[in-house]
Amino acid sequence: MQRENHAVIIGGSLAGLLAARVLVNRFDRVTVIERDFYPEKPVPRPGIPQARHLHILLNKGKIILEKLFPGLHDELITFGSPRLDQKSIAWFSPAGWAPLFSPDPDDLIMFSRSLLDWVIRRRLSEITNLHIREGGTVTGLLAKTDRPQISGVSVRFRDREDSSNIREENLDADLVVDASGKVSQTPKWLQKIGYLPPPETVINAFVGYATRIYEPNDRLLDKSAIFAGSAAPFRTRGGAIFPIEGNRWLVGLGGCDRDYPPADETSFLEFARSLPIPMIYDAIKDAKPLSSIVCYRGTENRMRHYDRLSKYPDNLAIVGHAVCAFNPIYGQGMTVAAMDAQILDECLQKQRDRYPEGDLTGFGRQFQKKLAKLHEIPWMFAISQDSRYPGSQGAKPDLGTRLVIEYMELVLKAVVDDIKVCQAFVEVVHMIKPPATLFHPRIAVKAIKQLTVDS
Ligand SMILES: Cc1cc2nc3c(=O)[nH]c(=O)nc-3n(C[C@H](O)[C@H](O)[C@H](O)COP(=O)(O)OP(=O)(O)OC[C@H]3O[C@@H](n4cnc5c(N)ncnc54)[C@H](O)[C@@H]3O)c2cc1C
Repeated sequence: MQRENHAVIIGGSLAGLLAARVLVNRFDRVTVIERDFYPEKPVPRPGIPQARHLHILLNKGKIILEKLFPGLHDELITFGSPRLDQKSIAWFSPAGWAPLFSPDPDDLIMFSRSLLDWVIRRRLSEITNLHIREGGTVTGLLAKTDRPQISGVSVRFRDREDSSNIREENLDADLVVDASGKVSQTPKWLQKIGYLPPPETVINAFVGYATRIYEPNDRLLDKSAIFAGSAAPFRTRGGAIFPIEGNRWLVGLGGCDRDYPPADETSFLEFARSLPIPMIYDAIKDAKPLSSIVCYRGTENRMRHYDRLSKYPDNLAIVGHAVCAFNPIYGQGMTVAAMDAQILDECLQKQRDRYPEGDLTGFGRQFQKKLAKLHEIPWMFAISQDSRYPGSQGAKPDLGTRLVIEYMELVLKAVVDDIKVCQAFVEVVHMIKPPATLFHPRIAVKAIKQLTVDS
């Protein structure tokens, strides 16, 4: 009897679940190992503390998710997710209020992160060759002795009812995908089996979040949502107020360069009052809170360069935050996780074209190289702002990057006066159009004009 082809995914948050969605079409059996036990309802869980904070899904991510799970957006709407067109979102940009426009069909669908994951898990539960094993912590990679390959993973499972009841298990795998997020132990695990750990680049703008859920009132007037971004290098504070499912407002305050928003009620309101626009404070000062204030600080940009390792296992793929994590204020993480899943699928197809028997020789390196290329633009987007804060730590941008940053400053200024520039900028931010769009002569003329406005 022929042995089943088996893929194991470490971590069952968004990157892991999306990888699972593509792997079920390519492997006889796919197993996701998740450390947590999932809650039955769409509520936060310990393994992804960020789920309590604002999660915006960029339009590119929305399109990929809809491809992977047809009808997902309607389903989110059925579960109460509000749909916002761009006209109902007020954006206070680094240069002031941006013009409003309505580029249908690019509506934003707002939801709590917990709802999105719950709906996706529901969908995945219908797939018969996918097994999600909860309460399992992967503790290491198992190496083959005769080839540069992984033979599986070691896992420590705990009992749902009795956490002292522990059992160790080794799982065989033809492909291992690490989607365990920033806490990924793969660098250490690789060392244990004779590989080098990947070099890392870290750029930290010391950004903090503080979030609270409120019952809505009529204070947002004609807008459904407000987003007031920080502006490097000196405007460290920003905030957002968005509706989410269950007729609730999610209010997030953010501070860069260690200007962390506080967790106590009075200081939280004071921080909101100090924002460059009054609307968020006005909306919440008398609103009824529905939650406590929660904070989050582990927001550094961290890139692990697996693509640079000369010796790397053929059948190991690292996706999501485990390979590249961004400062979340740019809202890129979930969309990049979706793009990672797409690339995983494409690379496996190419490998299959080359080796129809399913051989994975050279796959791991090629995949990580492709992924590193994909991450270049979102990385540049995040670090170009972050590296401008005086207290930022980590590699400083080179001359080329600094010139791009200067140019983007001009584009951002032009956004305020020109609806076409604003639209192009928003489309680039949403990854619908490539950044080159912003260098088109039509935009460049308007951006460069800002130099004369300035002088
Ligand atoms: C404050 C904040 C706000 C954000 N806002 C946005 C936003 O607006 N838009 C956006 O697109 N993205 C946002 N993100 C990013 C987004 O949350 C992540 O990119 C997204 O969750 C994908 O991450 P991931 O699946 O790679 O890792 P994670 O979400 O970190 O999940 C890792 C999973 O692996 C499990 N795990 C860890 N170790 C093990 C192990 N050894 N064995 C088994 N399981 C393990 C964990 O329990 C967890 O379930 C935000 C992030 C933060 C921190």
